[in-house]
Amino acid sequence: MRLRHIKGAEETIASSPYVIQEPETKKGRWHEVFKNDHPIQIEVGMGKGRFIMELAAAHPDINYIGIERYSSVLLRGLQKRAGLELDNIYFLCVDARDMADLFAPGEVDRIYLNFSDPWPKDRHAKRRLTSPDFMAVYGKILAPEGTVEFKTDNRGLFDYSLEAIPEAGWVITEHTFDLHHSPMAEGNVMTEYEAKFASEGKPICKLIARR
Ligand code: SAM
Repeated sequence: MRLRHIKGAEETIASSPYVIQEPETKKGRWHEVFKNDHPIQIEVGMGKGRFIMELAAAHPDINYIGIERYSSVLLRGLQKRAGLELDNIYFLCVDARDMADLFAPGEVDRIYLNFSDPWPKDRHAKRRLTSPDFMAVYGKILAPEGTVEFKTDNRGLFDYSLEAIPEAGWVITEHTFDLHHSPMAEGNVMTEYEAKFASEGKPICKLIARR
């Protein structure tokens, strides 16, 4: 994603009612934020947030949290959020690496990773969101039956993930190399990146993993 510093982004985020400030103070208490006990699902690296906002509108009985580490990117999501009447979605401007400081064990039901940065160089492998280090973080906060759902157009990152996720002690329960022409397409909600790649005719890969 092309990144540009946008003047005032930090200030807008710091005062937005849609962004939870000091999220570490909510650890184990997210039901108080949402004012209900509905399951919590997170998208890591939400970008402009099309996917998670569409899910939130379709599933009022599920609570959603979008995580995006760059304020300039999250700002775009906030602009879109302002036009929606939803009470089941909040955003965090944090690095996903710190998620175990923000959520208690078992507090999260599902984690979505959509079109995560591929980090193709071996020396950057630890930055991939499906690396063993990140899977360990997800494992700390997911409920026992919780799942990680990962979509990407990047075959290199997908092949890496098909090996790295089981090596990290997880089970891949389903996967496809061409989501839009597979049974896994049922109920699929497209992300911004997915819509762009699909319009170029690129196949989309998807896997679902659980411990
Ligand atoms: N999920 C969106 C989509 O599919 O349209 C955006 C995809 S974009 C390629 C990946 C996003 O993940 C970027 O906005 C990036 O800043 C964010 N990201 C990458 N690593 C992250 C991390 N460790 N913590 C939080 N966000 C991260």
